Amino acid sequence: MNTDFSPILKKQRELFNTNETKDIEFRINSLKKLKQVINKKQAEITKTCMNVLERPEFEVYFSEIIQPIDEINHAIKKLKSWSRPKRAKTPLIHFKSNSKIYSEPYGIALIISTWNFPFNLTIIPVISAIAAGNCCIIKTSELAPNVAKLIDEIIKESFDEKHCTVIQGGIEESTSLLKEKFDIIFFTGSSNIGKIIAQAAAINLTPTILELGGKNPCIIDKLDEDNLKTAVRRIAWGKFMNAGQVCIAPDHIFVQKDIKDDFIKLMRKQIEEFYGTAPLESKDLCKVINKNHFDRLVSYLQKEQICIGGNYNSTTLKIEPTILTNVSIDSPVMKSEIFGPILPIFEFESIDEAINTIKKFEKPLALYFYSKNKDKVKKIINEIPSGDACINATILHCFSYYLPFGGVGNSGMGSYHGKWGFDAFSHRKSVLNKSLAVDFKLAYPPYKDKVKLFKKLYGYNKRTP
Ligand code: NAD
Repeated sequence: MNTDFSPILKKQRELFNTNETKDIEFRINSLKKLKQVINKKQAEITKTCMNVLERPEFEVYFSEIIQPIDEINHAIKKLKSWSRPKRAKTPLIHFKSNSKIYSEPYGIALIISTWNFPFNLTIIPVISAIAAGNCCIIKTSELAPNVAKLIDEIIKESFDEKHCTVIQGGIEESTSLLKEKFDIIFFTGSSNIGKIIAQAAAINLTPTILELGGKNPCIIDKLDEDNLKTAVRRIAWGKFMNAGQVCIAPDHIFVQKDIKDDFIKLMRKQIEEFYGTAPLESKDLCKVINKNHFDRLVSYLQKEQICIGGNYNSTTLKIEPTILTNVSIDSPVMKSEIFGPILPIFEFESIDEAINTIKKFEKPLALYFYSKNKDKVKKIINEIPSGDACINATILHCFSYYLPFGGVGNSGMGSYHGKWGFDAFSHRKSVLNKSLAVDFKLAYPPYKDKVKLFKKLYGYNKRTP
């Protein structure tokens, strides 16, 4: 496999330097073409993405087709206004000038992607990069090779390779790409690899957007039975979709002590309603991506802690939706992101107890709180740092292009979706434009005796403390 990527970078840089990709009509037409190809290949995208984890068509269609198409439509509609230079105020001291902020494409973007929503997590950053006027090179995930092949075909049909191209492969290709000088790197993957990406980017001072993982806590306040039922349904849906292989799935639960037994009882019923009495046979339960991850997950299943589920099939790589209780906060399952259908439950008496425990962990990508109490909601949002959060919902925030999506600290840096994606791939360039007609000599040397005059003129004596 040829891993010298300098020729393709050279071609992309030549195109970028012509300024063609900056043209707004060019960007809009590029997005329209991409949309047309995606629409044409909807059935193939759906089927290929379904095969990766044996995902149900409904979830694949929603996340891999609807969300990317919504993002393209939104970008096409808003692109002119997003890219228009924005007026800014100008302080009196700069009389006579005006100020504007331009959104300038970085240049060549490297987008490294993952396998759990393999089309969505690759194509949405591409939409943002193209909307912002960049060229881009996409490194797909080796763990979803058929989707990678399909993405390659879609990109080839939509773009000239000088504008956008795909490199299929794994660590070797990624490592070679990272030796090249890009103008921005957008990475989706684990926190550990995120650090490798950031180190490689630092050599060229390349800005990075890191969309990483984390241990997302979900806190459940005391709720009445009806509300608790709804909470349980929403949590089970967000946790067991994709067999828990969702970066923003709840990783573990903190439930108020008085309702813990009811929570477990309702969760047992809910899992049965979603996946039947034999979940390993359910068409709606996904498999784990590979044997390594499967073995890692199975190692978390300590018999005495299994409260619901716990069965698995090492041939089909499926693990039942599993609830663990009596887990110590220091146990292996709490040492890293679970990323599977296993949900440990902890109880708390006061909300402060839950907050203090959560704050001992790295900042999560997502935080979930189920409560009807507005003061407690305020407290949770205010006191627990997290990438994003949902109140009385699970994972829904990522399906809104009006909200920036991204992590903080160990769960990442920077955000995207909608305008936020456009901004992620744009440098904000301030331009101060001063009239040549007026020029105050006071600002120039020799400065002798000018401080007093300056203070008087601008009233600084009154303004400064
Ligand atoms: P990963 O970090 O192993 O791989 C991600 C990408 O990095 C792949 O393209 C892979 O080829 C490449 N890569 C792997 N090792 C590399 C190395 N040593 N040097 C350079 N590149 C390398 O992650 P994964 O298993 O693909 O995905 C799971 C992780 O991604 C989880 O932690 C999950 O939370 C996270 N994730 C985050 C988001 C988000 O939007 N924040 C979305 C999905 C998944």
